[in-house]
Amino acid sequence: MDLASYAELAVRLVNTDSLGHEGGDQIATLEGLRALVADRQHLNHGVTRRDLEELRGMREEFRGFFTACAAGNGAAAADLLNSLMIQHPVHPQLSGHDGQPWHVHYTESGSMADKYAAGAAMGLAVRLSELGVQRFGTCQGPPCEGVFIDSSDDATRRYCSDRCAERAAATLF
Ligand SMILES: [Zn+2]
Ligand SMILES: [Zn+2]
Repeated sequence: MDLASYAELAVRLVNTDSLGHEGGDQIATLEGLRALVADRQHLNHGVTRRDLEELRGMREEFRGFFTACAAGNGAAAADLLNSLMIQHPVHPQLSGHDGQPWHVHYTESGSMADKYAAGAAMGLAVRLSELGVQRFGTCQGPPCEGVFIDSSDDATRRYCSDRCAERAAATLF
């Protein structure tokens, strides 16, 4: 898994509670959390209620990062991420499982919530250094409060999803 993919974990976590038009908290239950990480082999086993509580608690910290970026406040965004990286350090390991070439796994120890947070925070930090603060934003399609990372060529992304973009376009015309 590459670092961009780790950064997507942060977007995914924040957006469990930000899609106003869909309603409900996607990680209100353990089943919801399991579904959220079903496609992530290093996270989708041994998920406990404690992980659920920890991730729900961290969600607002990760949201704060995107809000700070959207406001152009790079210093606040960096402070938040630095604090998250200290609380949830990465533990890199080389792995050659399943006959694959040697590659780095970044989060090999700790609870599921620790691994999730460590990967998400480091992924964001690396992406921020590559892309710049202006590429992290919040959805311009209220009531949605979704967040996104803009990896488009022309840096014009304004919505968290195609769904929000289509909804906004329908209101305009
Ligand atoms: Zn691997
Ligand atoms: Zn949206």
